Amino acid sequence: MQTAHLKIGSDWQESENGKTITLNSPWDLNPFAQIQAASAKQATLAIDMAANSFLTWRNTSLSARLEIFEKIIARLIQSKDELAQVLSKEIGKFPKDAESEINRSIGYIKLVMQALAQQTGRLYYGDITGQYESMRKTGLYTREPLGVILAISSFNYPINLSITKIAPAILAGNTVVFKPATQGSYSATAFYSKFFEAGLPDGVLNIVTGSSSEIGDVLITDERIKLIAFTGSTGVGRHIGKISTGIPLLLELGGKDAAIVTNNADIEVATSEIVSGGFSYCGQRCTAQKIVIAYDGIADKLRDKLVEKSALLDLNPMIDEASADYIGELITDATEKGAHLALSGQRSKNHWQASIIDKISPEMRIFSEEQFGPVLPIIRVKDEQEAIKIHAELKYGLQASVYSQDIDEAFRISSKLEVGTVQINARTDRGPDNFPFGGVNDSGQFMQGTIETLELMTRGKLTVVNLHNLD
Ligand code: NAP
Repeated sequence: MQTAHLKIGSDWQESENGKTITLNSPWDLNPFAQIQAASAKQATLAIDMAANSFLTWRNTSLSARLEIFEKIIARLIQSKDELAQVLSKEIGKFPKDAESEINRSIGYIKLVMQALAQQTGRLYYGDITGQYESMRKTGLYTREPLGVILAISSFNYPINLSITKIAPAILAGNTVVFKPATQGSYSATAFYSKFFEAGLPDGVLNIVTGSSSEIGDVLITDERIKLIAFTGSTGVGRHIGKISTGIPLLLELGGKDAAIVTNNADIEVATSEIVSGGFSYCGQRCTAQKIVIAYDGIADKLRDKLVEKSALLDLNPMIDEASADYIGELITDATEKGAHLALSGQRSKNHWQASIIDKISPEMRIFSEEQFGPVLPIIRVKDEQEAIKIHAELKYGLQASVYSQDIDEAFRISSKLEVGTVQINARTDRGPDNFPFGGVNDSGQFMQGTIETLELMTRGKLTVVNLHNLD
């Protein structure tokens, strides 16, 4: 079976305990690859390597860093078909979606390179205060890398959600320890192996895979880590918040992205966007449309159209059977409490077709929990005021969509939603990747992007030039 190794400093290593984890492909649940389960000692060694490499990498010129990334891009382009196949197999993504993830991740590297090339500092003139003569004191304000960054990503976009951390971190002069989600580790390791083939110096990026219970806390609590960039569930994000050492945390957590559909919506646009937003990659996207808030005047018609269109879908599998069981629990809870199962998708193990539950209410679990699967709940509201009130009861705040052809109404609602992004008349979505992206409340903190992430992954430094012989 194909096996991925740990990348620690210059070595591609096996687990020192001889422990491996077998990954099953979601398509057929058969074993497809193995990864190494790093020991706590190996996790610490990865940080040692990143810390040592930082001393030289931070002083590597910007042009040299950019040149290495040009070579990385070329190497990734050569391998993109092979990488997309592995990705599709490992996380059960349709081949075209896997190709799109690889292509968009390569595109993202280019965007960060452009953003970095445009990064500028600032000059501060001390004489503005009236205390100093001209040129006596001048401040040069520059950006400095932070040091070792810990990147942890989730299973659903193993490449895109890691490159959006790793590329800005390294390009800005930091070094990285990367812990991918277990399911996703094989493709992520294959992707980043190309970085070393293209000439990224050893130690700048270190990859540790394995059981979170063994290495998670060791990585998170190491005082040499200067920033943690995490994507995953709200529960694990909170755990990181509790045990980390007071460093900045870039948290991209769960979502419950609402589609607010007013009586003024273009129903065809809303239907098609909600179906694609709710069920792409089987609903396993942080920005999937996870709840529809429909005005009474449009709800019946919208529900019928959503059911009609969703029934035609042929979805990819869910990541595993346990995740599919969870969806089952939420549907049972909602129907037992009086919701109407308007579309009941067929299930076979982890393969599950689209379901739609109408007339849900806030006491049902599916209102407050993130389903992360192919079921879309609809809650009905009488008017704008109630829509905003219901939205405010959602704990999450990643994105929301407002569907209305009345631009005043759309902006009015948008201005009252506590989320990172509002999409007007389109599905909730991460891209384009040059747009800032992030959540509030249980969905995380800080807006990331290109320029935004470079700012977050560097710190300001002031160097004051003091001139004494000015006459
Ligand atoms: P998860 O279970 O929280 O895992 C996320 C990552 O954290 C994985 O690498 C996981 O490793 C690791 N992890 C788990 N426990 C840990 C610990 N104690 N210490 C350190 N690392 C630990 O999430 P998931 O199931 O992979 O992804 C789904 C979730 O991610 C959903 O809630 C979704 O909304 C969210 N998400 C958010 C965004 C966003 O941008 N806001 C994007 C995508 C996904 P193992 O796999 O080895 O356990």
